[in-house]
Order: sequence, then structure tokens, then C-alpha cells
Amino acid sequence: MGIVIGTPGTPDAVRLVLLGSGELGREVVLEAKRLGCEVVAVDRYAGAPAMQVADRAIVVDMSDPAALREVLEAERARPCAELLVVPEIEAIATPELERLEADGLRVVPTARAARLTMDREGIRRLAAEELGVPTSPYRFCDSAEELRAAVDALGTPCVVKPVMSSSGKGQSVVREPAGSDAAWAYAQEGGRVGAGRVIAEGFVDFDYEITLLTVRHAGGTSFCAPIGHVQVDGDYRESWQPQPMSAAARERAVQVASVVTEALGGTGIFGVELFVRGDEVLFSEVSPRPHDTGMVTMATQALSEFALHVRAILGLAVPAGEVPLLAPGVLLAAETGDAPRVEGLAAALAVGDDVQVRLFGKPDARPNRRMGVALASGADLDAARARARAAAAALRVS
Ligand code: AMP
Repeated sequence: MGIVIGTPGTPDAVRLVLLGSGELGREVVLEAKRLGCEVVAVDRYAGAPAMQVADRAIVVDMSDPAALREVLEAERARPCAELLVVPEIEAIATPELERLEADGLRVVPTARAARLTMDREGIRRLAAEELGVPTSPYRFCDSAEELRAAVDALGTPCVVKPVMSSSGKGQSVVREPAGSDAAWAYAQEGGRVGAGRVIAEGFVDFDYEITLLTVRHAGGTSFCAPIGHVQVDGDYRESWQPQPMSAAARERAVQVASVVTEALGGTGIFGVELFVRGDEVLFSEVSPRPHDTGMVTMATQALSEFALHVRAILGLAVPAGEVPLLAPGVLLAAETGDAPRVEGLAAALAVGDDVQVRLFGKPDARPNRRMGVALASGADLDAARARARAAAAALRVS
């Protein structure tokens, strides 16, 4: 028998506890609410995007194991028919989550997947050393001295990143051996948990990079059309779907995504990040949850990555094989600024009937903080891109 959805707030409810309440979490909440779930949104600050649309909100530092346990034990003590913990960010005390899972709490897709992917070392060693998936050459280093040796061995250019970081924080490219110490110092400032280990990776001169959204669900594994994207300083600015690929590269990409997501297990959507050079495909990293570049699926697929995630984690079916595409589409990060007042929405929407805008409602803005996105679809990518660009340009955060 399939899942039974009881009334939110009653002992029959299906309750999702979302760990992380950003813009991706917000879309997950909306999809879960459409299917009648009860949702609790957790983050370290009040008024976070997903909290604004959830049944309840809890403010807590999720990287503090004791605080995380307290919140999840309290949710477990409240009667409900089904309790699902849905990590939406990486900065979570995942070893504690694994202990809670061992005690019977259900974590999406699994607590181990959350632990392995929050740390570049865990996922890289799994992919390259256990699964034999092709990646850039790499070394882990614990000191400036070790990094110098790694840069020597890998050659330049190479990319240095804190193992506990995301969105390009603390990441830099070493263009000549003398730049190694500066990269070490920069990485020490940018890591999520302060100073520590870095990964040095050979620079991949890729033709393009993609996110291959991969859904593990009750009926098997399905794939979305490849999403192309451009990153500036390690943070995405624009993504589009589908990214044109050779048949051979596409087949390899599906293979790599299958192997990696199978090893992580559980059900839900995964954003598998890959570098493509000719027909060669290198694994970069994976998110065991919706991916920011995948927001474009809100304009291109009848079932967005968020709808697919919620369906999969509730044990519902998703389309088998390849998820159908409605039309090619493009997503652009909207301009950011110092204070969250967004002007130009009417002008942005007037760019075209197929233009959509998502404003995240973040209570504070700061330079380079994403405050919204513009989405457009069209007969082809160029047409969609022109409209998405015009819409994003019409938005102003002041
Ligand atoms: P990451 O945080 O590892 O996803 O890196 C952010 C972005 O930096 C990637 O999407 C790439 O555009 C770029 N990048 C990361 N690692 C490499 C690499 N080894 N070679 C070339 N570009 C890279």
C-alpha cells in the first residue's frame, strides 16, 4: 500500500523536517505542501526563505550535535504517522544524524550520503578510490608545506579548495608554484569550520560542465536532461537545459551518475556535477538533494527537481527513464545588492509570457548573495537566454 497522507498537525500527518531553509528548501516545502504534508523548516536564522512557507519554523545551529539532536528528538516525540528528515544544506552535524538514523529516524536519502557529501574528501575518495570513477588528479593537504609538494606533483594550474566548503568559498586557482602559499592562506579563511585540510585538484580544461539530476525512487533511477551552467568564483550565475552533448558523453555521464548515486543509496534527487571534455566525463561532486543549477527545471519540466524529490522521498513514482522536458530553458541569478528591496518585477515579467521570477524573500542581502532568479523557456536556448537575461536585468535589488 502506498503512503497515506493525514491532516497536518494531527497524529496522522506525514511530517518533513527540513534541515536548511534556503531558496531550494522553500521550493521543497511548497511541493510537500501541495501533497498535503506537514513541514517544519529549520535554519540558523529566523525568517529564512523556506520558513516563510512552512507550518512551523525552528531556529537552531544545525552544526551543533546536541542542539540538532534536541530538535529532532522533540519532533520524534510529537505524534505523526511518518517522520522524514530532509537535509537541505551541507553544514549539519552529520555524525549525529547518523546516530539518530541508527536509532530509527529516517533521513533523506541517507545520513551517510549527507556525511560523505558535506566533505570533499569523503565523496572524492568514495568516487575515485572505491568506485573507480574518473576525476581530476588530486591530493589532500594539511599544511602549506604539503600543499607546495602537491602543487609540484600535480603541476599548474591547479585548484585549491577547503574540504569543508561550498560555493567557491576559500577556493582559488594556483597558476604557478609560487602561488601555493597564498592559496593555502586563502583556503584557511574560507572553510566552513575554519582552518584545516584542503584538496588540490589538477585544473580540468573542460569544454563545459553539467549537472545531471538523477532521481532514485521506488521504480528505479530516472535522469533529467543535462543542465549546463556557468560559474563565477565557484558560484553559479546561469544555467540552461538541455546542454547539448555527444551521445557518447551523455552515455558516460549517465553511467557515472548511476554508479555514484547507487553507492550513496536511499531515495530522492541528486545533483551530479560533471566536467565534460570531448567524449570524456569527469566526476566533480554530488549533492544528495536538489541542486541550485537545477532551479531551471521550474521552467523546463512539468515536474521540477523539487517535485521529483518530494515524490521520490514519499515513495511515489516518478517518470521512468528520462524525465520529459517541456521546452529548453534558462535560469539567471538575479542581481544582488545591499538591502532586500526588489524593484522591476512588472518589467521583468513583461519580457515574455514564458518568463517566471522567483524572489527568495531573504531578510538580509549582502554582496553576491543570491536574492532571486529569472526563468525563461522558448523554442531554443538562445531565445530563452535572451528573455531570461532581459528579465534578470530588469530586476534591481536596492
Ligand atoms: P566546486 O565547489 O568544487 O563545485 O567548484 C566550483 C566551480 O569551480 C566548478 O563548478 C568549476 O566551474 C570550477 N572548478 C572546480 N574544480 C575545478 C577543476 N579541478 N578544474 C577546473 N575547474 C574547476
